[in-house]
Amino acid sequence: MSAIADNWRTLAALAAPAECAAVVKANAYGLGIDRVAPALWKAGARTFFVAHFKEALELRALLPEAVIYVLNGLLPETAADHAAARLRPVLGSVPEITEWSDFCRDQGADLPTALHVDTGMNRLGLSVDEAVQLAGTRRMLGFTPSLVMSHLACADTPGHALTARQRAVFADVIRRFRGVPGSLANSAGTLLGRDFRFELVRPGIFLYGGVAITGVPPLRPVVRLEAKIIQVSSVAAGETVGYGAAERLKRPSRLATVSIGYADGLFRAAGSSDLAKGVEAVVAGRRCHLVGRVSMDLATLDITDLPEGAVQRGDVAVFLGDGISVDDLAARSGTIGYEVLTSLGARYARRYIGG
Ligand SMILES: *Cc1c(COP(=O)(O)O)cnc(C)c1O
Repeated sequence: MSAIADNWRTLAALAAPAECAAVVKANAYGLGIDRVAPALWKAGARTFFVAHFKEALELRALLPEAVIYVLNGLLPETAADHAAARLRPVLGSVPEITEWSDFCRDQGADLPTALHVDTGMNRLGLSVDEAVQLAGTRRMLGFTPSLVMSHLACADTPGHALTARQRAVFADVIRRFRGVPGSLANSAGTLLGRDFRFELVRPGIFLYGGVAITGVPPLRPVVRLEAKIIQVSSVAAGETVGYGAAERLKRPSRLATVSIGYADGLFRAAGSSDLAKGVEAVVAGRRCHLVGRVSMDLATLDITDLPEGAVQRGDVAVFLGDGISVDDLAARSGTIGYEVLTSLGARYARRYIGG
């Protein structure tokens, strides 16, 4: 918990004078919004982003005073529900804006919220033309935009041409909304320099120990993931391990069978075969490879290189921590840290330490 708070403070110091918000969608990237959001509030975060209305309601109960934006916007006929919980749906289409405007006029209340402009990702948000037109007729909106935001498609790919193009387009749009704060940067975008930070940055993954691009600033790892070894066995060379007999042992081997599987978010793609080595876990201080496929509830590690007797039933294998980062595990599983974190299963005993 202290690592999450430190990571937020590091980014807040880097981003200043821009405000540093916190993205806590998907249950705070799988880590538990009920624990993470109050810790971020305590660290100083005041503005939060979630994806869904349901997440926002849960967050409102945790943080009565926070500014809460709902990234996925306004579903039909939900304006009153958002207003009742003082939530700010991020409006990204003309129908959404019309609905919010009409609701504000009906209520005789100016309920500020954000506008989302699509500057080149082509996923969500107003077109640039729509945004420019809106900027010209702002007085007719019926509410005051509290933020104009956009999202970078390639912030974690250094030097990608689309990043500079999106920044230029966004700068032109935000200029037309004079006086309204702008926000473009996610975690990686926050590192791209002052030009990308505008008035508010929206880091998510950096808070949770994922490093979308390596290097600066020094952020702390957050999650340690241990799984119990439930059986240790010796298997002859030439035998195969696990479903599909996908890996044949090249030497007499000692194996540790671990109580973790794809149902816990250890991806099947992290498994091992004769063709490709699987992920590693640390057992008794040493990195050991998976052998064979990952099952739903089990995985098998090759502990042959550890001294005989060094591993006992009940010991743990460390899949995150002891030098294995979220991004290491992700890369060896054919995915990204975001997916590793948000896939952490419901069967783990979760212990929150520090903070
Ligand atoms: C998820 C998300 C973020 C946070 O992205 P990270 O890469 O995790 O920092 C910021 N803005 C939007 C619109 C998002 O969807």
